[in-house]
Amino acid sequence: VKKNNAGSVHLEDIDTLSRHSFAPCMRQLHEHLRATHHMRYGGRMQYGLFLKGIGVSLEDSMKFWREEFTKMMDIDKFEKGYSYNIRHSYGQEGKRADYSPYNCIKIIMSNVGPEDKHGCPFKNYDVLNLKQKLLNWNIPISGINEVIEYVNQGHYQLACGKFFQLSHGVKTELGINHPNQYFLESQEILG
Ligand code: SF4
Repeated sequence: VKKNNAGSVHLEDIDTLSRHSFAPCMRQLHEHLRATHHMRYGGRMQYGLFLKGIGVSLEDSMKFWREEFTKMMDIDKFEKGYSYNIRHSYGQEGKRADYSPYNCIKIIMSNVGPEDKHGCPFKNYDVLNLKQKLLNWNIPISGINEVIEYVNQGHYQLACGKFFQLSHGVKTELGINHPNQYFLESQEILG
């Protein structure tokens, strides 16, 4: 995968990339979208800008969201209610601002309601759910306990660094401050 190059990440690779190189905050959104074919506004912003940041083109983004959402709604509703926001994220509407993908602090501090799936899982999941999720993602039990130790101290980014270490089989924990940085570091190792 080439870095930060619009069009460098193709739609057919996203499922695989999500399993190997997405930080938990993005992986949970991806899984949620694939499972329910819907996502609330906070998730669409967090995930949509991330996808833009890793190199998914506007055209591919539109196709990606349209294919999922139209499993649950008709195309007119999608075009009227959602496509504007996607173009907007790419700076193609309104002020034409170039919106940046969210960093960890912004994601950790975001307002997450009970129905929402965005935010940082290390902060927002209760410990039992987090453990289950980490098991599903093939983190060994001993490692899960190390992650949870950080979580209990409120060190969510350190928990994420430990998760990166365990899931990539590297010797040291990584300092994580941005899910797009997580992605690039992962691709550096796996890509
Ligand atoms: Fe995402 Fe940052 Fe939380 Fe990791 S620490 S899951 S990159 S918000």
